[in-house]
Amino acid sequence: MFPGSPRRAHSIAAQGGINAAKNYQGDGDSVHRLFYDTVKGGDYRSREANVYRLAEVSANIIDQCVAQGVPFARDYGGLLDNRSFGGVLVSRTFYAKGQTGQQLLLGAYSAMNRQIARGKIQMFNRHEMMDLVKVDGKARGIITRNLINGNIERHSAHAVVIASGGYGNLFYLSTNAMGSNVSASWKIHKKGAYFANPCFTQIHPTCIPVSGDHQSKLTLMSESLRNDGRIWVPKLKSDSIAIREGRLKPVDLDEDKRDYYLERRYPAFGNLVPRDVASRAAKERCDSGFGINKTGEAVFLDFASAIIRYGKEKAHLKGLDEDNLSLVKDLGKEVIKSKYGNLFQMYEKIVDQNPYETPMMIYPAVHYTMGGVWVDYNLMTTIPGCFAVGEANFSDHGANRLGASALMQGLADGYFVLPYTIGDYLADDIRTGSISTESKEFEEAEKSVKNKIELLVNNKGTKSVDYFHKKLGKIIWNKCGMSRNAKELNEAIEEIQMLREDFYKNISIPGSENSFNEPLAKAVRVSDFLELGELFAKDALERTESCGGHFREESQTKEGEALRDDENFTFVSAWENKGEPSNAILHKEELIYENIELKTRSYK
Ligand SMILES: Cc1cc2nc3c(=O)[nH]c(=O)nc-3n(C[C@H](O)[C@H](O)[C@H](O)COP(=O)(O)OP(=O)(O)OC[C@H]3O[C@@H](n4cnc5c(N)ncnc54)[C@H](O)[C@@H]3O)c2cc1C
Repeated sequence: MFPGSPRRAHSIAAQGGINAAKNYQGDGDSVHRLFYDTVKGGDYRSREANVYRLAEVSANIIDQCVAQGVPFARDYGGLLDNRSFGGVLVSRTFYAKGQTGQQLLLGAYSAMNRQIARGKIQMFNRHEMMDLVKVDGKARGIITRNLINGNIERHSAHAVVIASGGYGNLFYLSTNAMGSNVSASWKIHKKGAYFANPCFTQIHPTCIPVSGDHQSKLTLMSESLRNDGRIWVPKLKSDSIAIREGRLKPVDLDEDKRDYYLERRYPAFGNLVPRDVASRAAKERCDSGFGINKTGEAVFLDFASAIIRYGKEKAHLKGLDEDNLSLVKDLGKEVIKSKYGNLFQMYEKIVDQNPYETPMMIYPAVHYTMGGVWVDYNLMTTIPGCFAVGEANFSDHGANRLGASALMQGLADGYFVLPYTIGDYLADDIRTGSISTESKEFEEAEKSVKNKIELLVNNKGTKSVDYFHKKLGKIIWNKCGMSRNAKELNEAIEEIQMLREDFYKNISIPGSENSFNEPLAKAVRVSDFLELGELFAKDALERTESCGGHFREESQTKEGEALRDDENFTFVSAWENKGEPSNAILHKEELIYENIELKTRSYK
C-alpha cells in the first residue's frame, strides 16, 4: 500500500551509506564494536538486546543487497569499499556514491516485483492507509483511500505491518520527502499502539541553510562529506560580518583566523563527532554571532585541504610534480568528484556556488525521528498482530542516531527480523480462514474515515493546509527544536492546542473528496501532526534530562554539553492514547544495561 509508487519512498533520498560490521578495512571493527558505538551514540537510551541483534545481522544485509544487485562502491582490487561516518573511529559504511538509498530501494523494489509477477504480492499504488481495523483486539485489516478517485476501501489481513517512515515533516521544513508523514503510525496509536519517545528527533548538522519563508523543503548534504570536509567559522566576529556583507571571501581568510571549532572542542573525533554534538556546536557558534551567511545561520564545510591532500597523493602516485599547486588542485578535485560528485553538483544547482572553489555553507536541519511506534523485541506494537518496522518504529537508536544506521536498522527489520517474528505470531492463526470485511468493525472504521473526510471537505474556512502546517512547524522548531526549556515547551503545548482548534474552524479545502485532491490528503496528515506535535512537546517537557538530540537547557554541564540523568530517566517513554494528547498516559520501559556500562558520552 503506497500513496505514490514504492520507488518514491523517502528511502530513495538516502545518500551516504549503510553500516555493517564486516571489518573489511581491518581496522578493528566487530559486532561488539558496532553494538557499543550504537548504544553510546544513542546516549544510552536504546534497548541493549535490540542493538546487539542489529549489529549481528548487519553483515548479512550487505550480502543480501549484493545478491539483489545493489552496486556498492568497490575499491581498486574489486572488493567492497568503505568510508567513515560520525561517532565512530572505524570505516564500516558501505555506499553507492551519494545514492545509496536509491540503489538499495531499487534492489528491494526489483525483488518485490518478482513476487508480484509470481502472484505472491498484490500492490496498491496511490492508496493511503487511513485507519486500522481491530477485531477481538487483534489487528485484522485497514481502511484505505484511493488517492486518484477518492474511493474508501476495506482490506482484511491476519497481521498488519506499518512501514510508513518517520515524522520529521512535523517541523514543516525538513530533509524528508514531502510525502513523509505520521498518519499511519498515528492511526494505530489512536487504536491502542503506544508511541515511544516522540521528542527524540535528529537535527542533522550538514544541510543547505534556510533561505527564506517561501521554502517548503530542505536539502541534506550527506554526512559522508564530513570525512573530508572541515567545518569552520571565522575566529573574529568582524570577519564573519565582513563575509556576510560580501566584503571578504572565505577563501581569502588566513588559516590562523579560522576556528575549526569541532577539531578544537573534540580533538579525538574532530569533524566526525555524532550529529547531535555537531549540530549544537554549529548553533552555539551562530547564536554567538559567528554565522557566515545573510541570516547568520550558517557555517562553512571546506574541502580545500582535502583537495590538496588527495592531489599530492595522486601526483606522487603518478610521479608528477607535487609542488605544482595548480596541477595538485586539479588532481585533488578529480578525487573529490569521484567520491562526492553528485552531492557537489546538487549543492551548486541549489546555491549557485562552486563548492570545489569556495567552501559550502551548511546549517543543521530536521532529518530523522528516533521516536516512533513502540515495539517489543519481535517488532510487534501493543496491538496484537500489528507490527511496525523501519523509521516508523521507535527503533534502536536511542536519543541520537549514528549516520548510516537508519538503512541498516530498516533493512534488518525487514529482511532479518520480521520474517521470523511475524511467522511466530501467525502460527497461532494458522487455522483462521480468510477474514471477512463485512463485519461491524470494518463498517465502523470505514464510517469514521468517511466522517473525517466529510468534515474537512465541507468546512467553509478561509485558510489553506499549508498555512497551518507552516505555523505548526515554526512552533515546533522555535520551542521544541535544537534546545528546549520548560517555559517554551509549556507555551508550545498551549499554542498547538489553539492552532488545532483554529484548524478545525478555519481550514479550507478546494475540490471534492471523490477525485484526486492533494490538499485533502495533506489536511488529513496535518491534522495528525497537530496532535503528535502536542505529545512531542509533552514528552520533551516530561524528560527533564538532556540526552542525545534532546537538549534541555536546564540540564547541561559547565561546557554546555548535554547532562544525562541516568538515575531518573533510563527508560523509554511509551505513551498510551486517551483521546486528547493532553490526557496521554506515560508508561516507562526500564532500560537495563548488562553488557555495556553507562558512561558519560565523550568525543574529546
Ligand atoms: C535526505 C536523507 C538522507 C539520508 N541518508 C541516509 C543514509 O545515507 N544512510 C542511512 O542509514 N539513513 C539515511 N537517511 C535515513 C533513512 O533514509 C530513512 O530513515 C529510511 O530511508 C526510512 O525508511 P523507511 O522504509 O522506514 O521509510 P520510507 O522510506 O519513508 O518509506 C515509507 C513508505 O510508507 C509510505 N507511507 C507513508 N504513509 C503512508 C500511509 N498512510 N499509507 C500508505 N503508505 C504510507 C510512503 O509513501 C513510503 O513509501 C537519510 C534520510 C534523509 C532525510
